[in-house]
Amino acid sequence: MTVIRGATTVAADKKEEIVNAVKELLEEVFLVNELQKDEVKGVVFSLTSDIHAYHPAKAARECGYDFAPLFAAVEPDIDGGLKFCIRLMLLTDLTKEKNVKHIYQKGAKTLRTDISEVFNVALDGPAGSGKSTIAKVLAKDYNILYLDTGAMYRACGLKALREGIDPKDGEAVEKMLPNLDVKVEYREGKQHTILDGEDVSLAIRVNEVSMAASTISAHPSVRIKMVEMQREIAGNMSCVLDGRDIGSTVLPNAKFKFFITADSKVRAERRYKELLERGQTVDFDTLHQEIVARDKQDSEREFSPLVCAKDAMVVDTTDMTVDEVIATIKKAIQTKI
Ligand code: C5P
Repeated sequence: MTVIRGATTVAADKKEEIVNAVKELLEEVFLVNELQKDEVKGVVFSLTSDIHAYHPAKAARECGYDFAPLFAAVEPDIDGGLKFCIRLMLLTDLTKEKNVKHIYQKGAKTLRTDISEVFNVALDGPAGSGKSTIAKVLAKDYNILYLDTGAMYRACGLKALREGIDPKDGEAVEKMLPNLDVKVEYREGKQHTILDGEDVSLAIRVNEVSMAASTISAHPSVRIKMVEMQREIAGNMSCVLDGRDIGSTVLPNAKFKFFITADSKVRAERRYKELLERGQTVDFDTLHQEIVARDKQDSEREFSPLVCAKDAMVVDTTDMTVDEVIATIKKAIQTKI
């Protein structure tokens, strides 16, 4: 017995949507696996409890898949689980298990990013807008990587500070570049930023590195080097990337682009809390001024500035909770998939 799995989503709990979704899913499963009717011994559907308008097994029968026993059952409600989802288990007597292709369509692609096409979410925005918090949740929920591109520029800034190089000094930075070895590694799904062989994931989080990162990241040569790495990672693996120029420059063709912003005071408050939690003491007003200065520098640099890509959805998080932001973004992703 060989099992072929599949899943899809419907945009709404409507008979027509359910029939079409079931038909499309079965058609692709049959086509891609070159299945013959007599090779199928049973078809089992499960559906999320928000679907009531039609029975998927009935839909399958009406679409001509009445040559095998059909069965459907409702799944338990899982907090944060995918909505309006229909899953499929096709029991076959094929023996070519290894070659079987499971099919995940529409919003259900997010269930199996390991077998679906590479899936990138671009999150851009100013400092403290909540990008990294959102990126971490999305990466966890979609089971994909989180690439914090700011960490890479922070590592560049740290290198300059350690070597006594002024991050503004283009010539000195240029000379430093051949010896700049920044890498990103993942351990248990968590990003580690490696500078010259040393894990600097914590060292780059101190406040003075933030400004150095902003200053050094204005040099085109630094950006070109970092963007190349970012594209390579995002080209091979599904991931959520956060930064300043992901939607505009790094991945201009990304399907899912968001520009996350918030009032500068609110952003400074968030950073303040974050630094306090890490045991760093900073003066709030100074931090606020630094954030404003960093935004200005990031937005006004000539090469690849902080910008909202034309096709990005703007999410102003000033008065939103993290859960609300996540729900807004996920809804937009599901609609576009
Ligand atoms: O996001 P984070 O605050 O860690 O980024 C540090 C700095 O790195 C930013 O102020 C910005 O100047 C730079 N950066 C960038 N492009 C990115 C990510 C970060 O220029 N994609």
